Amino acid sequence: VFWGDIALDEEDLKMFQIDGTIELSQQTHGRKGHTSGGLGEHYTHKKRGSLYLLLDRIRRLGFESWPINSSKDLLGSKPGSRSVNSGRGEKSRVPRAATSRSEKIWPGGVIPYVIGGNFTGSQRAMLKQAMRHWEKQTCVTFIEKTDEESYIVFTYRPCGCCSYVGRRGNGPQAISIGKNCDKFGIVVHELGHVIGFWHEHTRPDRDDHVTIIRDNIQPGQEYNFIKMEPGDVNSLGEPYDFDSIMHYARNTFSRGMFLDTILPSRDENGVRPAIGQRTRLSKGDISQAKKLYRCPACGETLQDSVGNFSSPGYPNGYPSYTHCVWRISVTPGEKIVLNFTTMDLYKSSLCWYDYIEVRDGYWRKAPLLGRFCGDKIPEVLVSTDSRMWIEFRSSSNWVGKGFAAVYEAICGGEINKDSGQIQSPNYPDDYRPSKECVWRITVSEGYSVGLSFQVFEIERHDNCAYDYLEVRDGLSENSPLIGRFCGYDKPEDIRSTSNMLWMKFVSDGTVNKAGFAANFFKEEDECLKPDNGGCEQRCVNTLGSFKCACDPGYELAPDKKSCEGKSLCVLGASFSGYIKAII
Ligand SMILES: [Zn+2]
Repeated sequence: VFWGDIALDEEDLKMFQIDGTIELSQQTHGRKGHTSGGLGEHYTHKKRGSLYLLLDRIRRLGFESWPINSSKDLLGSKPGSRSVNSGRGEKSRVPRAATSRSEKIWPGGVIPYVIGGNFTGSQRAMLKQAMRHWEKQTCVTFIEKTDEESYIVFTYRPCGCCSYVGRRGNGPQAISIGKNCDKFGIVVHELGHVIGFWHEHTRPDRDDHVTIIRDNIQPGQEYNFIKMEPGDVNSLGEPYDFDSIMHYARNTFSRGMFLDTILPSRDENGVRPAIGQRTRLSKGDISQAKKLYRCPACGETLQDSVGNFSSPGYPNGYPSYTHCVWRISVTPGEKIVLNFTTMDLYKSSLCWYDYIEVRDGYWRKAPLLGRFCGDKIPEVLVSTDSRMWIEFRSSSNWVGKGFAAVYEAICGGEINKDSGQIQSPNYPDDYRPSKECVWRITVSEGYSVGLSFQVFEIERHDNCAYDYLEVRDGLSENSPLIGRFCGYDKPEDIRSTSNMLWMKFVSDGTVNKAGFAANFFKEEDECLKPDNGGCEQRCVNTLGSFKCACDPGYELAPDKKSCEGKSLCVLGASFSGYIKAII
């Protein structure tokens, strides 16, 4: 069974009358896993009746799919060629190179995401690990969607894996992670499509590196091996990359498991390079993505809970005209404490020439914590969230040591906002031994704090004596206990009585698990309002909402607020009782 991975864009949606996120796959699961085939036939019969035109369309629009059973997949070459912005004209779509397709590139490399509700805790953790892998190696950033207009939605559709290539714009775009493709490496591959990559083996220069063996391709799947036109793809000067995570395996879409569909050419030593890995980004993937998103040549993403970094050449001076960006990204819910240990930059008014800027967030538009130059060591800087952005620029010919800094992630702390996420330290990876984190959450006056768990996996013990999460109704360790939780069952939703909530996570020296992830938010009791939530009789408050209910003998009217007498129901009750008695 093959599961498909599809890249669609706006025009495809119109063509197939598919809703952007929801219906994406429902049109495509005529044949299980072989999505593109089903769609293709549909298209061919209905629209033009010509296989050639279909192939041409697929080639130009980048419609693709992959079979998952052996981590193979279909169509496309790596970066670059992305389908063209449609929006207007129907057939006037001429693929251009990646770099000129600015609207398909995520601005600032920032990709907002939403994880749909149907994923298990470990799947959610794996999706986050895949996103963190991209963040670690490149300068793209995945953020939880707030009010961004365009974003990706991890979802699960019958099509298996489907995604758009690049940013579609104008709302959500689906990245479907099906049952058979919920593997780290496959999600990394799929995110490669989101970022803007096609498959490596369809590059225009592929014939210099691989041989396509057409006779071994499953009938109907030939289009997945069509070579792109030079104008369709911009590989950004990167050499052909057998090791790319965007490359097919040798037997992808093969008629038989041991029949090659793609045969890599021998190298100078007579060896055929391996293809089709789904373990990690290759060096080529990384450098191509860095080019596509114009990542600074200097700096890196720091994800460990402690670390350090320094200006290039430190302590022997930095070159002029340097530009570096370091991004620190620790577990959500943790804060970053940044300590400069050396500071020796050219000093100028307003730090005009050489400077370090530290920002409280994930990108260059985040609030500025400070701009530094000269030789005075700045005060300790603390982020409000789990990400920090540090930018270094030089334009002088100053010969100084440069700077050096160390950072540490600290868990817990005061949180004064109306919503957010709390996760155990190091989540989605296992929490570490001997951790203790205390969070004190305060939301706006007049509300209570709602707490809802997405993931919960803490070493199990009858009394939660070893690792546990404790929640109290108030702001201190003496506040009334709401619960002490451990094990593998998600605690029920929690609501505080006041606008404050106290949480403590403790791990002992052994047995580490994934931990927990929970959302908190300000919670309103609609039933306390003078109008009783608009309910005629009873108002029942629920987390994030409320509902009306009725006294015995009444039932809720269709308006869901008023109550009607239910004379028939009384009769019905006794009637069914009677039947039961007979049986
Ligand atoms: Zn793919």
